[in-house]
Amino acid sequence: MQSRGGPVDYPRGAHILSLIGGILILIDAIVVLIAFAVLGTALASFGLGAFGAIIIALAGIGVVFALLIIFGALRIKSQPTSAHTWGIVIILLALISFLGGGGFYIGSILALIGGILAVVWKPTAPAPGQPYGQPYGQPGMGAPGPGMPPPPPPSMTPMAGAGGVTCAYCGTAIPAGSKFCPKCGAAVPGA
Ligand SMILES: [Zn+2]
Repeated sequence: MQSRGGPVDYPRGAHILSLIGGILILIDAIVVLIAFAVLGTALASFGLGAFGAIIIALAGIGVVFALLIIFGALRIKSQPTSAHTWGIVIILLALISFLGGGGFYIGSILALIGGILAVVWKPTAPAPGQPYGQPYGQPGMGAPGPGMPPPPPPSMTPMAGAGGVTCAYCGTAIPAGSKFCPKCGAAVPGA
């Protein structure tokens, strides 16, 4: 995943999805809390007071989970180094919340994806302590690196003889020490 710039690098997708998921779970839990607080008296009159109490307790747990997920989503942005830890926490909370249909299910799924994104997130900023410039052992721009072939010889003449001299006229290799070309007989300059 490429960095999208900005002074602070943090898992934006994880932050946003966890935040939305946590808010949905919170809304769901609050709606249930209000509904069963209103219905509680009626349920009790039907002998279902215990059922209502259990639902209210579960919704209360949902509120706590939602607040933890929202807090984690905010921490992922403010403290990106804690993203992996909070990602694991959000995954666990979202899975448990999903079993209870928290956040109308979609909120739990969004928080779960956000937690996974936070766990797999890797910061793109360079690690502190790394020296500036090129790492040690990397060659500069001018020097050829190891394994690179040597530059080709400048002349396009055929392979030179043992002395490294070729005839200026016919290109034949001339043995070292010879004063004339063995093929065309031309004098070797400098010999
Ligand atoms: Zn020659």
